Amino acid sequence: MARIVMKFGGTSVADLDRIKNVARHVKREVDAGHEVAVVVSAMSGKTNELVGWVQNIPKVSGADHSIYDAREYDAVVASGEQVTSGLLAIALQAMGVNARSWQGWQIPIRTDNAHGAARILEIDGGEMVRRMKEGQVAVVAGFQGLGPDNRISTLGRGGSDTSAVAIAAAVKADRCDIYTDVDGVYTTDPRIEPKARRLKKIAFEEMLEMASLGAKVLQVRSVELAMVFKVRTFVRSSFEDPDAPGMGDLLNPPGTLICDEDEIVEQEVVTGIAYAKDEAQISLRRLADRPGVSAAIFGPLAESHINVDMIVQNISEDGSKTDMTFTVPSGDAEKALRVLGENKEKIGYDVVQSESGLVKVSVIGVGMRSHAGVAATAFRALAEKGINIKAITTSEIKISILIDGPYAELAVRTLHSCYGLDKS
Ligand code: ADP
Ligand code: ASP
Ligand code: MG
Repeated sequence: MARIVMKFGGTSVADLDRIKNVARHVKREVDAGHEVAVVVSAMSGKTNELVGWVQNIPKVSGADHSIYDAREYDAVVASGEQVTSGLLAIALQAMGVNARSWQGWQIPIRTDNAHGAARILEIDGGEMVRRMKEGQVAVVAGFQGLGPDNRISTLGRGGSDTSAVAIAAAVKADRCDIYTDVDGVYTTDPRIEPKARRLKKIAFEEMLEMASLGAKVLQVRSVELAMVFKVRTFVRSSFEDPDAPGMGDLLNPPGTLICDEDEIVEQEVVTGIAYAKDEAQISLRRLADRPGVSAAIFGPLAESHINVDMIVQNISEDGSKTDMTFTVPSGDAEKALRVLGENKEKIGYDVVQSESGLVKVSVIGVGMRSHAGVAATAFRALAEKGINIKAITTSEIKISILIDGPYAELAVRTLHSCYGLDKS
């Protein structure tokens, strides 16, 4: 007998038939004698709809900006998960499975005060575990918790993955299964590259990079928690027949295991390709080349909660003036330009230029640590396809390349094939 956390994403609970199908997956594990907690997302599209309502109400009421109370944003957007948790509990009960729903505040899942992007601080799983031991399935609303102000908080988009891993850590689960609309983690997004291969295993560090560089199959924070708390996490499909052979395999369920690097025997140099759309590039021209300039630029941007990503600074020719280029999410570009304009004198630049709709493609693999020439291969392959590189950043285990938006898919496929990742 084991203790298992099962998480089902938006497409897996998109309508009542799919919720019933999810209930069959849960029943399979319950019938095998396991203690089960389930974490659910909102029905697919629901969270977007709720966010849209919140963003549009200031306009409806005549305000000329879209600033709203983040605590009320959370009260609205957390509701999608409340609905699916109740519906799944009912579907389970209808199949004769003892189940009840739990909202974040009922457990409680304590978070910090960063409404809209809160971090989980503590989970008191005591009562939930007691009931699980009695055979009751806990159906938990993902994505939500309780802030120090005693108000509902949400964990940022894709946050149900994090709810699931955090609960698995809190109740000391033997496994956390993230059920989604693909049957595992692939070498790249299978929607973009049909030749992508499913990985049997992927190292925590690689999955962390893949997720933070755009592969939305797992929320970044969920991978961090899995790594820190050593949660055995699988990504697998909810669309397979719940009762097909092997689906209930305790040690090797079908899917991709996220694990320590040394659990992977045949480590490739490059493991995967990720991409992030909607990046904007901002360049400050003829900037004074003196100490404190970077702080004068990035300090105010950070204070305005603008997430700066790639930063490139030129070495100036005569030591007096230089250029600085960096990227931000396209949605933040306007705000960033405003902040830079307000601080123009303090920073001391001549002109600012910007471009939106760019894409960052990234090559990821822990094997890069010990192999030279990985970046050169990417540059050559992109050049052969006539794709212009606008900026580059690297770390020990990844290379990120900024390119024009329309080339995104071509670049992903080109990089995927140049490292031999295509399915043979
Ligand atoms: P859920 O609603 O279940 O949380 P998401 O839409 O958040 O599902 O994540 C699953 C999607 O992630 C897949 O449909 C796929 O298009 C996308 N994805 C991006 N990169 C990858 C990858 N490397 N492997 C698998 N899926 C990926
Ligand atoms: N429903 C939330 C979202 O769409 C959380 C999740 O699905 O993980 O972002
Ligand atoms: Mg998701």
